[in-house]
Amino acid sequence: MPKRILHIDMDAFFASVEAARNPALRGKPLIVGGNADDARSVVSSASYEARRYGIHSAMPIARARKLCPHGIFMRCSHGVYGETSRRIQVILETTTPIIQMASIDEANLDITGSIHLYGGEATLAKYIKDAIVEQEHITCTIGIASNKMVAKVAANECKPDGFLSIAYGDERAFLAPLPVGKLPGVGPHTREALENLGIMTVKQLAAVPAPRLERVVGEQAAESLLRAAVGVGSDTVAAHGPPKSVSRETTFKADLADWRVIEPVVFRLAEHCAHTLRMDGLEAKRITLKTRYSDFQTKSFAKTLADPTALDTDIMAALHELFPKAKARRARVRLVGVNLSALSWNQHQMRLFEREHNDKWERLFETVDAMRGKLGFDAVHIGKALNGASQKKPST
Ligand SMILES: [Mg+2]
Repeated sequence: MPKRILHIDMDAFFASVEAARNPALRGKPLIVGGNADDARSVVSSASYEARRYGIHSAMPIARARKLCPHGIFMRCSHGVYGETSRRIQVILETTTPIIQMASIDEANLDITGSIHLYGGEATLAKYIKDAIVEQEHITCTIGIASNKMVAKVAANECKPDGFLSIAYGDERAFLAPLPVGKLPGVGPHTREALENLGIMTVKQLAAVPAPRLERVVGEQAAESLLRAAVGVGSDTVAAHGPPKSVSRETTFKADLADWRVIEPVVFRLAEHCAHTLRMDGLEAKRITLKTRYSDFQTKSFAKTLADPTALDTDIMAALHELFPKAKARRARVRLVGVNLSALSWNQHQMRLFEREHNDKWERLFETVDAMRGKLGFDAVHIGKALNGASQKKPST
């Protein structure tokens, strides 16, 4: 029996929360993001009134200001969005225990067993929407389908304050007329590559022979694109929160004494962990360096950061501070590992603007992650981890 998956996405989340906190902002073109005077700052969230001027998230603030000079420009409020998100999660948990937050303002719920309690999908969706409006004074959009991917596309198609349910069996027909860029995972680069092949709609994508697509986007991406194009997707909602930790370790072929060789390997492991964090939309506050010595004694050295991070540079800086402790025991090293814990949902887009020195790094890592998505993890290494790549491949 097919499952029913509900995808919920808050409308213009940061901007809506700001307007809920300050009613004077309601109905106004509101742009939440970085410093308007800084050419590198980008829009984190724009109200629907601001979107009418062509403003969208990730657009440079300077450009948004040109498009809408009378708009209200605000910096992100630290912590507030995360707290709102957790309160919304509590509301969602009253409808089903099978729920997974997908980001700070999106969640997937397996409502297969709950629909009959509410007398139908539409009443269940209305219950959630009303409860959030009543408690938080903000709106959301809900899509329901037999898998997470189609439910998300359905929600995107009826924003803001919308509800759309795609019946089992109708997935393919629903997606067919949409532009290919509407499929999750089709970013600007892939879209351009597809359009160059004359593939504009999902229907056209579904009809492309696999080998032709593979030549352009690679074997893996081709397979997932062709599955998505016919409406096939995962219906598994992991009924737990974000993972407790992300870790990687490697055992050396021969025990090592020279930390000039060991350190780059640790940095390489940190890069893998940070990449995983960013892919899962998470940040870590606690960085742990694990070392097993030749006598099989295992020691862990940890540092807790003031702010959570998903940036390689922050994590490597913490590890750098931990190295002297690990070196103090003058023994050969058999194994090293990196563990990132105290994880939370990434709110970095907000803090980006408070810590602008990270801005260019954030953008670099976006590019790096995009390239890894296309070419595989080993396509890109940064700085100090370069040596680690040639020394030793992570064993996990
Ligand atoms: Mg949203």
